[in-house]
Amino acid sequence: MSDQLYNVAIIGRGPAGLQAAIHSGSKKAKVIVFGKPRNSGLYKARVANFCCSEDVITGKEMLEAGRKQAESFGAVFLEEDIIEAKSENNRFILVTESGGAFTFETLILAMGVARKKLQVKGEKEFVGRGVSYCVDCDATFFKGMDVAVVGNESAAAAGALALLLYARTVYLVCRKPMISDLLHERLKRSEVRILQDTWVKEIVGANEVEGLMLTNDESLKVSGVFIELGAKGAMELAANLGVVFDAETFSFIETNKKQETNIPGLYAAGDITGQPWQIAKAVGEGCTAGIEAAEYARKLADSERSRG
Ligand SMILES: Cc1cc2nc3c(=O)[nH]c(=O)nc-3n(C[C@H](O)[C@H](O)[C@H](O)COP(=O)(O)OP(=O)(O)OC[C@H]3O[C@@H](n4cnc5c(N)ncnc54)[C@H](O)[C@@H]3O)c2cc1C
Repeated sequence: MSDQLYNVAIIGRGPAGLQAAIHSGSKKAKVIVFGKPRNSGLYKARVANFCCSEDVITGKEMLEAGRKQAESFGAVFLEEDIIEAKSENNRFILVTESGGAFTFETLILAMGVARKKLQVKGEKEFVGRGVSYCVDCDATFFKGMDVAVVGNESAAAAGALALLLYARTVYLVCRKPMISDLLHERLKRSEVRILQDTWVKEIVGANEVEGLMLTNDESLKVSGVFIELGAKGAMELAANLGVVFDAETFSFIETNKKQETNIPGLYAAGDITGQPWQIAKAVGEGCTAGIEAAEYARKLADSERSRG
């Protein structure tokens, strides 16, 4: 697949991504949406305060209805995580967990925010002292050390593979891998030590992380533990693309009223642009991003046609 088939790509199929797909599709853009519904903040919610929803609609039902609606506007869905994103020559290149590489003219980031914590003893206490939520940010601190990555999905698998470049030993602690066959094969061929059917019971240490107690009663001596629950971290993907984050907290993508980021052709919408973390805000921004991205793609096509 390539930019000939789709001109607007959306990472994220929560309310922001779905609304963006509906509005881009309605402007006749060729839209593809990446992501998994179960990783949306909305998936487990019972929605109380979204206009016209009353207290009868579950988040899961809303996400399914949104997908069907976006499909009716021509959007195509690929239920895969993006594990790499970069921009080259005014184009955006996305790599999926199953190894597909796609090039697009326009990209909308709608990956929500990562709220997932492991919630075990030692996690809070050792944040920044061996506990990390970002392989791309912290891998270099663990050169030559033994580390563990905890998680079942693409973020954990990709993180463990990336850590091999730095750490001496990399363990992947997972209950059951929920990743593509290709990523699974890469893991099996790599030096990552997979500890399956187990989970972290406690993170132990004195001043810094010294090890993990696992639910199968084994203990693991490690100096670092990377908690990677869910998909590849939104901020890591965004940082790779070179987007500017908000100056105050450095944790949200900065956009203008058109949902444009600092990079031409790159838009962001929903929780990823900051609070309030609400569906109403996500769909509002998704609508604007969808319209603007479609318009950007149309202008680009027009100017390329006129240049012959
Ligand atoms: C328990 C709970 C209850 C809530 N109740 C309400 C409520 O009553 N009213 C309300 O207004 N809001 C509520 N919210 C908040 C609301 O769910 C969020 O504000 C909303 O879902 C944000 O939408 P979003 O599209 O920005 O992100 P999300 O809905 O979080 O969607 C993010 C999407 O990005 C995808 N993604 C992330 N990383 C990648 C990647 N690397 N590759 C591919 N895809 C990726 C995910 O798979 C997901 O599809 C609730 C949230 C929770 C957790």
